[in-house]
Amino acid sequence: MAKVIAITGGIGSGKSTLTDFCEQLGYPVIDSDQLARQAVAPNSTGLLQIIEHFGEELRLSNGELDRAKLRQQIFNNPQAKNWLEELLHPIIRELTLEQIGHFRKQQCHCIFVAIPLLIEGIDKTGSKPDFIDEIWVVDCPESLQLERASQRDQYSKAEIKKILDQQVDRQHRIAFADQVLDNSADPALLKQQLITLLAEYC
Ligand code: ATP
Repeated sequence: MAKVIAITGGIGSGKSTLTDFCEQLGYPVIDSDQLARQAVAPNSTGLLQIIEHFGEELRLSNGELDRAKLRQQIFNNPQAKNWLEELLHPIIRELTLEQIGHFRKQQCHCIFVAIPLLIEGIDKTGSKPDFIDEIWVVDCPESLQLERASQRDQYSKAEIKKILDQQVDRQHRIAFADQVLDNSADPALLKQQLITLLAEYC
């Protein structure tokens, strides 16, 4: 049975860099951010329920969700935020299970699922999603997270720091890790750690 390995880490820690390496090495990667977008795609049940709850003004003229307006609706409104999370989590979970099932049929040994806010979710619900066998954390010092994310996104370091401060801290995240991949040096060294782990696991 294929192992399902969740990849997580803070902003700019190197999750996409790692999952790109996984794909290059031939392993399937499920991207939970992409599934979250799929959950509210035009005409999806997710979007229809959001429109019913918050109003037609959240639908753009091209049929897509107006994400900026949705953010405004849930900003400083924990009740609305909870409602949205309770709607979307089961949908994203079903989409994830569907993809896991699809890759299992292809006899893959390891299936990676990138879940940026996995630990924040575990803190909230009190348990790790039952489809996850292992948690691998990509880690580097905060200073590098700020440096790399601000270069990539053209946001200021102060803006990235605000996001980083809303996430769990490094030590807390690492406490949940079955494996920690250090991304404080060259990406080639990150890839080498992955290859070593894959030889052991997959
Ligand atoms: P986010 O949570 O913001 O989506 P992420 O964890 O997926 O970020 P990446 O996008 O993989 O992080 O990396 C952030 C930036 O840092 C990218 O521009 C990437 O190319 C670069 N980067 C990743 N690892 C390294 C490294 N070891 N050395 C230098 N640059 C790196």
